[in-house]
Amino acid sequence: MNGALTERHGYNMAQERKDIEARYKWDLTVIYPSETEFYADYDKAEKAIEAFSKYQDVMCNSAKDLYNTLKSLTDIEALIEKLFHYASLNFSVETSNNSFQSLNAKVRNLMIKAGTATWFVEPYVLRIPEETVTEWLTDYKRLATFRRMIEKILRRKDHTLSDECEKLMAKMENCIGAPNEVRNIFVNSDMRFGKIKDENGVSVELTDASYASYLMSGDRKVRKSAFTTLYKTYEQFGNTFGTMMNAMVKENATLAKVQNFEDALTASTFKDEVTPEIYNNLIHSVNCSLSVLYDYYALKKEVLGLKELHLYDIYASLVGELDRKYPYEEAVAEVLETVKVYGQEYYETLREGLTEKGWVDVYPCRGKRGGAFSSGGPATEPYILMNYTGTFDNVATLAHEAGHSMHTWFSTHYNKPYNASYTIFVAEVASTVNELLLMHRKLKASENDDEKLYILDQIMETYKGTLYRQTMFAEFEKDIHTLCEQGEPLTAELLNTKYYELVCRYFGNDVVCDPQIAFEWMRIPHFYMNFYVYKYATCISAASAIVKRIETEGASYVKKYIDFLKCGGSRSPLESLRVAGIDMTDPHIVSDAIEDFSAAIEQFREIYHNKK
Ligand SMILES: [Zn+2]
Repeated sequence: MNGALTERHGYNMAQERKDIEARYKWDLTVIYPSETEFYADYDKAEKAIEAFSKYQDVMCNSAKDLYNTLKSLTDIEALIEKLFHYASLNFSVETSNNSFQSLNAKVRNLMIKAGTATWFVEPYVLRIPEETVTEWLTDYKRLATFRRMIEKILRRKDHTLSDECEKLMAKMENCIGAPNEVRNIFVNSDMRFGKIKDENGVSVELTDASYASYLMSGDRKVRKSAFTTLYKTYEQFGNTFGTMMNAMVKENATLAKVQNFEDALTASTFKDEVTPEIYNNLIHSVNCSLSVLYDYYALKKEVLGLKELHLYDIYASLVGELDRKYPYEEAVAEVLETVKVYGQEYYETLREGLTEKGWVDVYPCRGKRGGAFSSGGPATEPYILMNYTGTFDNVATLAHEAGHSMHTWFSTHYNKPYNASYTIFVAEVASTVNELLLMHRKLKASENDDEKLYILDQIMETYKGTLYRQTMFAEFEKDIHTLCEQGEPLTAELLNTKYYELVCRYFGNDVVCDPQIAFEWMRIPHFYMNFYVYKYATCISAASAIVKRIETEGASYVKKYIDFLKCGGSRSPLESLRVAGIDMTDPHIVSDAIEDFSAAIEQFREIYHNKK
């Protein structure tokens, strides 16, 4: 959710990295004190990869052989992960440093080598009769530590092809995903959108990347001109985009069939270890609560003082930027205050991480990548990259990334390295819980109406953007896959019509559905990620439910939540969430999120009216 770069003018990049005090930079020497140690591990990994073929002939012979194979495989993976973090984290703050560029390239090569050398593990595990595997898991205790890993392989049994076909599929791997590559290069390099006039009347080049920030402009003329100019270009290339989309959806549908899945949605949710039912429930529940979204747009129309609310108005902020800035130390204090509710272990670990152990790289500087992220694993600290400039949004981002980092910390400290990494399906839960808790707490504590309205606007934006918009995308993805699977060619015309109908339904009668929005599907890169976006919506739903329980039940519930964080990757995502008392198969799972959204709308309206 974070990391989306919408800054039009970029950050203050003028600052040189060397001029930033060490306490505001992350400490990566904990991973390797220098490149010498990096290369020592690199050689070790390379040797282990070269020697790995010795397991091919023996791995199915006995429980002990299988254990040794998996142990060696996971040792290699752990080494590569550590090397990867060292190279990629260093690179992200010094992107023009040649030495880090080459470390990164080396790690990538190592990954490819490892993939090639260890290809046989999965198909060979599947060759062992299932009863035998079960017996080995019971009789040989050491093997049982790999139970989750083995079970994850076994569940793919019905979807694994013959050796010959698997080899063919592996060879075809780099031919898959071409529509996405074409789309990216086309949008980012070849397309020209022309110029618009900005707020100061200056003629500026419009790009797909800068579009979002113009759409947030307080100047309606700028918003409208960005909107119409952008879509005029997209409209011209409808046939090209239609062909790319058709190719991509056909690819998903075909691969699903080849791998013996009912359809593309089933194949994709199978990888997430969930079911299409969860996907469908989400769409159904959100559709049942569209009236709350309509209410939000009615509020927006009122506050912006518009006779008609057009689609180019919906990103305009209801409140301006807050005057006040938050020094970084204050952001840390805010985040720590928020996480006190989780108890001592969480609080102390994060306090140390943020203030003593060098987890965070705080400020923007020349050569550093933009946005924010959290990254780390069993052999590293859970590092956080920020581009802190002191806005309230930055404070919320720190809370968000700290959520990721603490999820990683609990996962790595309570599991074996190979059971530590949690799946994408739950990845945005802990981060969103932190963000919502911070906003709720600030909302309660704040005496200042402007600050309250600002926070409420943020909460509403979060639900609108993460719950509703992503579900709308998910619904479109599902519809176009179904059409394709029924043999319908996805032409631009059909895609335009389907998309426009959907948008009209999600925006309701109070919003003017400008015809250009029919082309929006062309500019959403996530449609090329094979049923990805619904996870944003399910995560915020789970997060809302968790926040509600933390706020109403307190310590007795918090224990369950911490136990969920401790699950890491040791259980399926649905089982892990059940540990936190959240049942994602419950069709009402989005109701807490809708309630929170609705309450924010009400509260905003009340403060706004009293202020007037
Ligand atoms: Zn995130």
